[in-house]
Amino acid sequence: MPPLSARLSENLLEQEPRLKIAVQKSGRLTENSLHLLETCGLTYSRGRDQLICYGENMPVDVLLVRDDDIPQLLAEGVCDLGIVGLNVFLEKSNPEDGVRKAVDMDFGRCRLSIAVPRGESWDGPVSLAGRRIATTYPRILSRWLDEQGVDASVVTLSGAVEIAPRLGRADVICDLVSTGSTLAANDLEETTIVLESQAALLAAPQAHSAWAQRMISRIEGVLRVRGSKYIMLHAPRAALDEIRDLLPGSEAPTLMPLEGLDDKVAVHAVCSETVFWETLERLKGAGATSILVLPVEKMLA
Ligand code: ATP
Ligand code: ZN
Repeated sequence: MPPLSARLSENLLEQEPRLKIAVQKSGRLTENSLHLLETCGLTYSRGRDQLICYGENMPVDVLLVRDDDIPQLLAEGVCDLGIVGLNVFLEKSNPEDGVRKAVDMDFGRCRLSIAVPRGESWDGPVSLAGRRIATTYPRILSRWLDEQGVDASVVTLSGAVEIAPRLGRADVICDLVSTGSTLAANDLEETTIVLESQAALLAAPQAHSAWAQRMISRIEGVLRVRGSKYIMLHAPRAALDEIRDLLPGSEAPTLMPLEGLDDKVAVHAVCSETVFWETLERLKGAGATSILVLPVEKMLA
């Protein structure tokens, strides 16, 4: 029989409802999403069916599903958090479900754009009037057409949108683009952007548990820390204002006295933007010495 303390903690773990996070099973968002959760401290073992990753060190499990299903899994209360493209969130969520976007991520960037056969004339969205537009995003597209005051017919397809004009099923398309190479390969030209998208962390209305809050704030911390640097330098008191202005994207720096040096102080600052060599050279030009730039590993605001 295991000691009482172990049994108690086992029971406590069992009683605590486990947080469920939905992540795309296999696609463009999978690797970044799982890596982000690992950076938040989660270690997991993958179930034999490859559908659930069981958290080993936190009461958190990851469900691997199709991205299109994620908004509904949250709306139904099956999962608490989920990672999808903004495009999928806007297309598949109903406002009355109460699913909200908690955090913008810095991956999965793409745009939902209108593309027309190469060489076709384009005078802005009015050129779409009366035409057939193929898309897998009928809701986003219809809303955008309304905003533009354009009357066009939306042809909803489940995939292979880019070949619809050649097959005669539509005149133009509205599809996701990142590099534009798929469009080029299909003799299409991007004309206007309907939606700029990136991955987003979604939270279900019931995601109020301590672990949900903790995961959201850890994810925010990981995103904030990317690209952040910690700068340490010695600055002449007379040049403090100039040096403070040169520090990229930092809030209030910390000033500390230097033993035996009355005319200089140590300045420490977290900079949220890239620190270029040019910035360091300018800091040096302003009189800073002993300049050190360090990576930031974790941040909790
Ligand atoms: P699933 O099998 O999960 O339904 P899928 O084919 O719908 O997969 P992916 O092609 O893996 O999905 O794209 C997932 C998300 O990645 C998109 O919804 C979008 O937010 C983002 N994305 C980034 N770049 C692109 C791109 N060039 N084309 C399509 N999606 C992109
Ligand atoms: Zn999908």
